[in-house]
Amino acid sequence: MNLGRFPRVRFAHLPTPLEHMPNLSRHLGGPELWIKRDDCTGMSTGGNKTRKLEFLMAEARDQGADIVLTQGATQSNHARQTAAFAARMGIACHILLEDRTGKTDPDYTTNGNVLLDFLHGASVEHRPANPDMNGEMTKVAERMKAEGRKPYAIPGGGSNPTGALGYVNAAIELVTQANDMGLRIDHVVHATGSAGTQAGLVAGLCGINSGVPLLGIGVRAPKDRQEENVYKLAALTAEKCGCPGAVKREDVVANCDYVGKGYGFPGADTIAAIELLARTEAILLDPVYSGKGMAGLIDLCRKGFFKKGQNVVFLHTGGQAGLFGYADDFGYRNSKRLAA
Ligand SMILES: *Cc1c(COP(=O)(O)O)cnc(C)c1O
Repeated sequence: MNLGRFPRVRFAHLPTPLEHMPNLSRHLGGPELWIKRDDCTGMSTGGNKTRKLEFLMAEARDQGADIVLTQGATQSNHARQTAAFAARMGIACHILLEDRTGKTDPDYTTNGNVLLDFLHGASVEHRPANPDMNGEMTKVAERMKAEGRKPYAIPGGGSNPTGALGYVNAAIELVTQANDMGLRIDHVVHATGSAGTQAGLVAGLCGINSGVPLLGIGVRAPKDRQEENVYKLAALTAEKCGCPGAVKREDVVANCDYVGKGYGFPGADTIAAIELLARTEAILLDPVYSGKGMAGLIDLCRKGFFKKGQNVVFLHTGGQAGLFGYADDFGYRNSKRLAA
């Protein structure tokens, strides 16, 4: 797994900390809970897309791109981190934002990640909900080429074998940290969406024969489809790293019981998980991904799926900027807490 041979820009603050969560562990009374702080990757409030973009944006630079194109839902963390990379590299950035949720609250449509997209100087086009946003983006790329520009198109979530290299690297980083600390990791848990994070992690964890099991908590697709998407991308990623066949189908596990009303709609369990982490560990989760992932982890601890004496690492994939696009979902406006 010689990742040094792939072009990469180095903007991320790495390694991210691996920390114990004593208060949350005590509160739940189950396994010892640890957290890998990829919310602290450093680019424009951080998050998991930063690791992927180090490899993707190096490819854009090497291909002589003068504009990067990407797409995501309105409060896309990926779009925001792409805009930040482009700003730092002096490349233009154009974003297609998909109205995947139909939410009209002005915080959702203009605050949080959307505010940051504009702050970083990106241009934005809107699209109604569309299952083929990558196809939509290809059309825009063709339009730009016809105008004489050199676009580099990054798929939603930065999830292709190049982007997933960032999480192959994260898997090696995590296992190395645990080795240094003398920590036996019994399970890694994280939120899984466009699949690149889980695909890279599983390729890395299998490629180095770590024996560490991984569980993705789904935020959108049903289990079968999510696992299939992750497995396909993991196989391509392992091949790219020189470990073809390293990932077996059964290494890819997703639990999609915590999607709730659908992508971008935090349920009561997600809001409760965000509040619990903020109040026990002073860690900020997000309403679309890491909050749902943590809601899943909390429920699995309560049900005894993870046991006392085990060490479970939650990969914090970031997304806090999204909190400000979802203020309305917390019900603090007109709350008695204000007067108390
Ligand atoms: C994109 C994202 C995820 C999911 O990662 P994928 O690689 O798309 O599966 C999880 N958490 C946050 C905060 C994200 O922005």
